[in-house]
Amino acid sequence: MNILILGSGGREHALAWAVKQNPKCDRLIVAPGNAGIAAIAECASLDILSGAQVVRFCEENAIDFVIVGPEAPLAAGVADATRAAGILTFGPSAEAARLEASKGFTKEICDACNAPTAGYARFAEAQAAKAYIRRMGAPLVVKADGLAAGKGVIMGMTEAEALAGIDEIFGGAFGAAGAEVVIEEFMAGEEASFFILTDGVNALPIGTAQDHKRVGDGDTGPNTGGMGAYSPAPVLTDAIAQAAMDEIVLPTIREMARRGTPYQGVLYAGLMIENGKARLVEYNCRFGDPECQVLMMRLGAQALDLLQACAEGRLDQIQAHWAEDHAITVVMAAKGYPGAYEKGSEIKGLDALPEDSRNMVFHAGTAAKEGAILATGGRVLNVTARGETLAEAQARAYAMVDAIDWPGGFCRRDIGWRAL
Ligand code: ATP
Repeated sequence: MNILILGSGGREHALAWAVKQNPKCDRLIVAPGNAGIAAIAECASLDILSGAQVVRFCEENAIDFVIVGPEAPLAAGVADATRAAGILTFGPSAEAARLEASKGFTKEICDACNAPTAGYARFAEAQAAKAYIRRMGAPLVVKADGLAAGKGVIMGMTEAEALAGIDEIFGGAFGAAGAEVVIEEFMAGEEASFFILTDGVNALPIGTAQDHKRVGDGDTGPNTGGMGAYSPAPVLTDAIAQAAMDEIVLPTIREMARRGTPYQGVLYAGLMIENGKARLVEYNCRFGDPECQVLMMRLGAQALDLLQACAEGRLDQIQAHWAEDHAITVVMAAKGYPGAYEKGSEIKGLDALPEDSRNMVFHAGTAAKEGAILATGGRVLNVTARGETLAEAQARAYAMVDAIDWPGGFCRRDIGWRAL
């Protein structure tokens, strides 16, 4: 089977690493890829937001299966284009990807199927939104409706902050993504991520994870794309996960199908857990990054069988098997991230690290130049390990971190603290 993965982050390196181990995988191409991916797969330069270009590339390279990594090509309809061309594709249609691309749409679906989530209101202009904030009082969460790379959410812990959020969004800070706002009740609790494969009818949970969004130890400092993650998430007990399936995930899948826009791909439910009950914070229509790295570490080669069964609509005929162990990933970022950071610093010591089913360094923002590995992005490496316990996985991951010689980089030293 010839496989094309779209994307260039640690998530796509982890997907490529898992898929590549499956004997069914013949040729593996990742577009655009990165330096770590180039060591295990072919990398191709391609406009992954253009359905026409992706289809042409698949036809020229006899691609049998396309796996879409990030949300932007999904929202742009790339999975629609490849499926229309008869190419097996993992990832939702643009219509179904609205579960991530429009927060208002997700609320509408929750209403339609009675899924527990924060109370909310939607507004298309500032005056009514502000009146609502004054009436409800803080704390409230103010969100741009569309995709804003995690930056379109403003925590209004005071009324003034919530009102300022309205000005920011309607002032154009997020472009078209801020044409509408969703104002939500603030939910207290602990967050966890729940990953479910669905072919539109059948659903198969494939694991839980928790990430660390803040840049500093002890969950302090500004938000980032994610500084580390671990799987499983102990807060999502089997009972809570089952209730989340019954009350949130399955009703959503049925409602999407009922509307004639079935969801196919991975449904990533961000949940808030309080007093043993889960409520939906958000849906994402792709794997999380860095959560994918810990899920792939635990799933290994069978990931390809699962993604293929999902794309082929036969998830009822397959089961996920994973070792009952723990995985953790520590993100190494360029100094200065998530603010301005330097590009081009050299990373040494990667060659000497063990890379096997229990220890892997997944690359994100890296490039190879004359035999050297250079940091080219904010988040650069995902140092990932498995262990019998989370503590063992954590010790193994930080041993690898300490063996990496990269003065231009930093990481958090406490990934996993909540679960430990
Ligand atoms: P990201 O891409 O970072 O996941 P996003 O832009 O898709 O973010 P959300 O996931 O809806 O936006 O919100 C981002 C974060 O804000 C959540 O992970 C959660 O920590 C917090 N948050 C969002 N909504 C609420 C809420 N109603 N109550 C409390 N916290 C919230």
